[in-house]
Amino acid sequence: MLLWLILKGKVLTNSERYRRHLVVDSCCGLCGATEEDFSHLFRDCTEARLLWVRVVKDEKLAKFLSIDFRTWLMANIENRQHFSITKEDWDIAFCTFLWNIWVNRNYRMFSPESISFEGIYHRSMWMIAEFGRASSSLRPANNIFTASLFGSMGGSAYGVD
Ligand SMILES: [Zn+2]
Repeated sequence: MLLWLILKGKVLTNSERYRRHLVVDSCCGLCGATEEDFSHLFRDCTEARLLWVRVVKDEKLAKFLSIDFRTWLMANIENRQHFSITKEDWDIAFCTFLWNIWVNRNYRMFSPESISFEGIYHRSMWMIAEFGRASSSLRPANNIFTASLFGSMGGSAYGVD
C-alpha cells in the first residue's frame, strides 16, 4: 500500500506540504536538509542512508544512492538480488525498509520517541524473518504446487528444476 501511494505521489513529504501551503518551508524535519522530497525521505535522509549503507552491496552503493527516485524504486522492486548484501528476497526486504523508514519518520515528526537507524534495521529484519517464516509455512511440502505450476509451463524453460 505504501509503495502504491509513493508511486502515485500521494505520500505527503514536507516539499508537498509546502507546495500546498500547509507548512512554512520544505525542509526535512529530521536532518534540516532544504528539501524533503521522496528521494530525501526514503533514501538520502541521515537515518535512511545509514540503513541503506548497511544492507546494500558496497560495489552497488554509488549507483543505489544516485539513480533517480522512480528508477530506484522500480529497480529495487523488480530485481530481487541486484543490490542486496544478503540472499534474502530483496524486493520484500526493500519494501520492509521503506515501510519502517516511513513509520519512524512519522514517529519522529510527532513524538520525541523514535528509533535510530539501528532500530529501523532490527525492526525490518524481524519483519522480513517473520514474513519468511509465514510464507514458508504456507508452501506445500516438497513444492508440489510449484512443480505442477511450472511443470505445466515447460519447467526447465523457466529455469525451474
Ligand atoms: Zn532529512
